[in-house]
Amino acid sequence: MPTPSDRTRLIAAATRRGRGRRPVNPPLERASTMLSDTVGVMRDETDGPSYGLSGTSAARDLRCALADLEGAEDVFLVPSGLAAVTVPLLALLRPGDEVVTTDAVYGPTRRFLSRYQAARGVTTRFLPADADAAAIVAALGDRTRLVLMESPASLTFEMVDAAAVATACRARGVLTVMDNTWAAGLAYRPLAHGVDVSVQAVTKYVGGHSDVLMGAVAVNAPACRRAIADVIEDMGWHVSPDDAWLALRGLRTLPLRYAEQARSALTVATWLQARPEISRVLYPPLPGAAGHDLWTRDFTGAASLMGLVMKGGDMAAGEAMLDALTLFGLGYSWGGFESLATHETHQMAYRDQPPALEGELIRLHIGLEDPADLIADLETGLSAFRAALTLP
Ligand SMILES: *Cc1c(COP(=O)(O)O)cnc(C)c1O
Repeated sequence: MPTPSDRTRLIAAATRRGRGRRPVNPPLERASTMLSDTVGVMRDETDGPSYGLSGTSAARDLRCALADLEGAEDVFLVPSGLAAVTVPLLALLRPGDEVVTTDAVYGPTRRFLSRYQAARGVTTRFLPADADAAAIVAALGDRTRLVLMESPASLTFEMVDAAAVATACRARGVLTVMDNTWAAGLAYRPLAHGVDVSVQAVTKYVGGHSDVLMGAVAVNAPACRRAIADVIEDMGWHVSPDDAWLALRGLRTLPLRYAEQARSALTVATWLQARPEISRVLYPPLPGAAGHDLWTRDFTGAASLMGLVMKGGDMAAGEAMLDALTLFGLGYSWGGFESLATHETHQMAYRDQPPALEGELIRLHIGLEDPADLIADLETGLSAFRAALTLP
């Protein structure tokens, strides 16, 4: 039999194997203490975890399924998507090291680099948001220890040739970490392209229901694995069995939700692109959009998260548009079943080189609602935007 597809393997991974009559679902085991039959067994480290801190069966099953998906030797679970980025950056960097990344890196990641890591003596170079692979490689210096990539990047959705960056970095002994949340571990496999560490916010599409916070760190090289495992152990970090169980539940429908939401997102993006109120739709899967060529070359699917650069407007017009929406919720995060909208213009002020945008910046997450209904809702929002533009 050929290797089953992601859809099939994820169903198998989340279903209980074994013999005899049994529930379909893996057990939900809540534990701090684990009991052993004898002191000898208690000391045997090969006989499964000896304390709840290292996770019970749902966490183990989730780690295996995510490792299979990312093509990783191991996946570590951490309490949030942000921790999935900060843990490898704590594990792999020492005072005096330099990180190279871009201005479009996830905001809280930037804050961690600029506040916590800077105080620790780790410096960061934030290149322009649209820095391509050649610009990133040209920026590597003697102290550069690690390149952090996000593709598409946060809020402005720039794509980068991660394989080219990884190859050049490897030749110079520089590590690469990729925040792969947009691809959900499904549409792009960083490790297969030579990236050292692939992280994602499980909070987003894997959880898929806006009710779990969790991060995953996928890694192959033994030295990186050891360093990351040590930080998690040293810090005492843990994810709850209930959350791991919910993430496993999300995994079963991940490929279907992801594909369906991408289909709707492309329908909505195509409609938006033709609207007179909108200057640009920042969505690499959209033909003609920035990053489309790289996305077509490297990705096998798409998230349903996009940016809208409006034609003009101000804060009040952006807010009027969002306040007029009824199907799109106003809320942070994404990757759940429901559509969301956020107003992001002010976030550009945190960048070293704020982009010159033609108007307000809006972010949309397309959920599982009927795209025709979402378009009708956006039509109302765009009318409100237009009305706010014509006010004195
Ligand atoms: C949301 C997000 C995270 C953080 O996930 P949380 O679980 O909310 O901490 C990290 N990276 C990217 C790109 C994200 O969008």
